[in-house]
Amino acid sequence: MELGRGRRRDPAGGVAVTAGTVTDADLDIVKRQLRRPLRGVRRVPHRCRDGHPTVVETEPRLPDGTPFPTLFYLTCPRAVAAASTLESNGVMVELAEWVCSSPDVAAGYRAAHDDYLARRERIAQVPEIAGVSAGGMPNRVKCLHALVAHSLAVGRGINPVGDETLNRMADLEEKPWTPTTCTWTPT
Ligand SMILES: [Zn+2]
Repeated sequence: MELGRGRRRDPAGGVAVTAGTVTDADLDIVKRQLRRPLRGVRRVPHRCRDGHPTVVETEPRLPDGTPFPTLFYLTCPRAVAAASTLESNGVMVELAEWVCSSPDVAAGYRAAHDDYLARRERIAQVPEIAGVSAGGMPNRVKCLHALVAHSLAVGRGINPVGDETLNRMADLEEKPWTPTTCTWTPT
C-alpha cells in the first residue's frame, strides 16, 4: 500500500501519525464503509466519536491520473444514510430555495465554493476540474453528501448549506445522525 502524503517515516522506522493523517487501519475501515477501496485518500479531516473516519480528503488527481473534484468524501455509513434520507425527503429542493431566497445565504454559499476550490488548489492544480467544486456549489444543491462532508472537514461557519444539512441530519425523526452520537462499527 502506498504511503499517503499525510504520513511520514519517523527516524525510528515507524510511521508517525498526527491528527488528520491516514493510517492503513483507516484505509481498511474506509474500505468496509464503502464496500470498496477508495483511491487517493490523503487524510481523515473528521472522525466520528469512536475514531472511524467520517470524511476523507482525496487527492485532486488520483494515482492513475483521473481528475477527482470531490476533495471531501463522506464515508461514515450512518452519515451517508442520513444524508440520503434527507435527499429522498426533498430537502435539496428546500435548501436550493433557501439559497435563492436569501442573498446572505447565497453569498455564503458562493464563498463556500471558493473555499473548497482554494483548499483543493493548495494541494494540486488540476486544469480539468478548475472552477468545479462539489455538491452543486455555487448556485445549485445537487449532493448533500458532498456539502455535509465539506462542513465536517472544515468546521461550521464556512458552508451554510452543509451546516444546515448537519442540523437536519441531527433532527431526523428516524435514525438521526451526529458525529458525536454515531454508533457505526466496522463489521
Ligand atoms: Zn460514524
